[in-house]
Amino acid sequence: TVFAKNMTDANAERTFIAVKPDGVQRGLVGEIIKRFEQRGYKLVAGKLMVAPKALLENHYKDLADKPFYSGLVTYMASGPVFAMVWEGKEVVKMGRKMLGATNPRESAPGTIRGDYCIDVGRNICHGSDAVETAQREIALWFKDDELCDYEFADKKWVYE
Ligand code: GDP
Ligand code: MG
Repeated sequence: TVFAKNMTDANAERTFIAVKPDGVQRGLVGEIIKRFEQRGYKLVAGKLMVAPKALLENHYKDLADKPFYSGLVTYMASGPVFAMVWEGKEVVKMGRKMLGATNPRESAPGTIRGDYCIDVGRNICHGSDAVETAQREIALWFKDDELCDYEFADKKWVYE
């Protein structure tokens, strides 16, 4: 599901982006959506949900041995998250750039974390770190029929 149906080109790469519970509580869902929309990316899926602990443990399983892991899962389960799938050219890499560094105090101003947060344990958003990770995360958070297959009206104005 990392590539849209009938599209195998780089413009159809997909990533998993989520507004974490602090981002939702702080009213930043719209701001984060806006940045991806205005950049020219295509929204493929989105939903507000309180993530079950088991889902979060699976999502962050590579960090299971870190000292902050249980706090991370508790934080992520502390309220609704807004889960999304975005599509477009090199969207995994570009999404990470738009989010900024993991530690917000090392995120450049102009990035989402660099503009809206301070602590690494309250860094308001998640983005897949590689195409393979995106594929795993999209499958974990969304059913196939929640991913919308549609023609993006702006396509010919965004891509040459
Ligand atoms: P990301 O891919 O930029 O989100 O960073 P990681 O995959 O390395 O870590 C996942 C999430 O765990 C981060 O976004 C932070 O919310 C949290 N995290 C990472 N490192 C730390 C840390 O040193 N302390 C705390 N409290 N949380 C951390
Ligand atoms: Mg990560």
